[in-house]
Order: sequence, then structure tokens, then C-alpha cells
Amino acid sequence: MYRDTRPDPAANLQSVLRGLTDDQKDYLRRPAPQPGAAPQQVTDAEALAELAVLNGIAQRAAAELRQDRLLNEDSLPDTLLQHLLALSREIRRVTEGHEMLAPQAARAALRNWARGDGKEHALAFHDLRTRLAAVLATQDADALAAQQPRVRTAPPPPAPRSNAEILRDELAETIGRKAPNGEHATVKAILVIGGRAYRGRNDGSRVSQVTYDLVTRRLDRLEKWTPTGCAEVHALDAFVVDRNFATEALALAALTGAPPAYPDGWIAAMDARGRTPDARSWEKRLPCDNCRQWLAALGIQADTRGALS
Ligand SMILES: [Zn+2]
Repeated sequence: MYRDTRPDPAANLQSVLRGLTDDQKDYLRRPAPQPGAAPQQVTDAEALAELAVLNGIAQRAAAELRQDRLLNEDSLPDTLLQHLLALSREIRRVTEGHEMLAPQAARAALRNWARGDGKEHALAFHDLRTRLAAVLATQDADALAAQQPRVRTAPPPPAPRSNAEILRDELAETIGRKAPNGEHATVKAILVIGGRAYRGRNDGSRVSQVTYDLVTRRLDRLEKWTPTGCAEVHALDAFVVDRNFATEALALAALTGAPPAYPDGWIAAMDARGRTPDARSWEKRLPCDNCRQWLAALGIQADTRGALS
């Protein structure tokens, strides 16, 4: 007779499981009774069903072993086969024929056999049952995982851009682009702080008292300087007004406290330049000496790379 000999016990255990009924699999899913533990009380019907399930599992495994398929690493197929056949014979003896017992008595008789004459056979079955239950638990877990809706891995939220990065992008959209034509000196500044861009122009309009104090009290000389004539001051004023600082002290603390609420601010200024008054573009420029002083005192860095004086 041709024998399909497979030495892989895991695959052979799966083959046993494929041949089991739902009742037999459910039995394997229940925790194995601990040796020596008091038997659970069951009805006659449950006692008969349990004996039938045990016999069915033993017969199914025996069929596999008859094909020389190993169900564990350390015993020959024939050895385990003899144990299972002995268990099967004992179950039939107490449930069929002239020695047939009432269901609960049959269950108790098998239990006594398993602790006495049949102990070796019962232990071999217990070992097989444990192996089958482990493979079944893995199959159940895989089936459950396959049923779960796939969780999409959300892309991580983009890291917030730094003030310096925001300013770089703002400049990329502006520097070198067409500026208002004419003879009038036109300067604008972009201050990026707290993740937002604030813009100012050298238009001479008034600024808030908080901004005026904030700037002029950071300077050691004030002669011949009109703060409202600098675009940087107006950009700072846009920030001060937007954040609604009530006093110079509060604004100063927000910029230079330990730690500051608005650290790492960046500013750049640009003016409209051209060879002729009707061909002007925005070009980065250095802040004036006065602005450099208050910017440094307030911890705001000026982006001057490539700036014209
Ligand atoms: Zn200035």
C-alpha cells in the first residue's frame, strides 16, 4: 500500500484538525481538565457527547498515524497509534455491547481507567490534545485577524514648520519678483513669529504705543531716527497688535522671558530696486543700525543671507 509519509508534525496536526467536526474542535478549545481535579458535573447527554468527541478525535488522529504521518517529534507513529487505539477500545467497551454502562457511569469508568490501567494511553492522548489545541488556537487567531477591517496606518502629521522655514518660503515667493515702480523708496519686512507671518511697510504710519516703547527702549541712541520709517518696526507692530499685548513689559516678557512664549522669531526686509524706476524688483536688504539693535535685544534674528546694504 502506498503511504504518503510526511515528517512535519505541524502540517500533520493541521491535517487532523481539517478532519474534525465543529463539536470536536469546540472540545479542543476548552481548557484541558487538570489531572486530579474533581470531574465536572454533566448531564447524561453531555457525558455521552464527551465520550463520542474523545473517540472521534482519537480515531481521526489514528487515521493520520496509519499513513505514517508523525504527530509529534518524539514518538513513532505506531507508538502513539497504539495508545489512541487503546483509548478508543476502552470508550467503546463502556458505551457499547454487553459491558455498556449508563452514560455518567461510563464517563466515570473511563476516568478511572485513565488514572489506573490506561494511564499511559491517557497521557499520550492528553499530549496530543494539547498539541492539537495549540495549532487550533493559532488558526482561530489568524482567522480572527483576517476578519478585522484593516487599520490604515495614518501618515504622521506633518511636523510644524519652524519660523525660519516659513520665512524662507515667504522670501522664495517674493525676492526677485516685480516690485512697485517709481522713485519712491519702498521697503517691506516680513516677521515670522509664533508660526505666523506679519508684514510691515516703511509708510510712516503710526504704530502702537507698546511697539514704540518696545523698540525705542532697546536703543542706546535715538537721534535722527524715526521708528515709523522702518518696515521692520511696522512688522513688529502687526505682531504686537495681533497678540494684543497690553503693555511693553508683557510684550517684552513674551519675547525674552525664560522661556519666551514666542521664541526664535525671524525677520527679513526687502526694498524695491532696479536700474530704472520702471523696472524694480524686491531685493533683500540689511536692517538699519537702529533696527539691528532692537531686533537683537528682542531675540529676533534677521535673515541677511544675500542681503544688499
Ligand atoms: Zn530700521
